[in-house]
Amino acid sequence: MTTDHAAPVTWPTPDPDAAWHRNEDDSAPDPWAHVACVVTWLNTRNGTGEEETALRLLKITEEAGEVTRAYLGMTGQNPRKGITHTRDDVADELCDVILSAMTALHSFADAPEAVFRTVVQRRAVRLERLLATGTVDGDG
Ligand SMILES: [Mg+2]
Repeated sequence: MTTDHAAPVTWPTPDPDAAWHRNEDDSAPDPWAHVACVVTWLNTRNGTGEEETALRLLKITEEAGEVTRAYLGMTGQNPRKGITHTRDDVADELCDVILSAMTALHSFADAPEAVFRTVVQRRAVRLERLLATGTVDGDG
C-alpha cells in the first residue's frame, strides 16, 4: 500500500460500542483503549503492510531519542544550550516510548494487552524467584 502523506487525513468512524480515545468527561482514557484507537487510525491512514510495521518500530526509537534529548536538556549537559528541559519533559517522553511500543505491539499480537500481561507475569515470577533464591535461570 502506498500512502499519499499529503492527502487529507481520513478518520475512522468511531464504534459507538467501543471505548473511544478520549472520555467525554476529559478523564484519562484507558491506555489500551486509546492505543487501539490510534492503531485503527494508523491502519486506516497508512495500511498494515511490512513497511508500516517497520515504521511503527522505528517510532519507538524516535521517541527514545526524544527521551535522551529531554534528559540531556534537563541536566544542562550542553553548556551552550543550558537547561532546556524538566523532569516532567523526560517523563512525558518516556510515556511516548511506552505508547509507541504499545502501538507497535498490535502488529505482532492479536491480543496485545493479554500478551503484555503475560510478559509482566513471567517477569514477576522471575523477580520473585530472584528475590527468594538470589539466582534466576533462563533468559528473557
Ligand atoms: Mg515524544
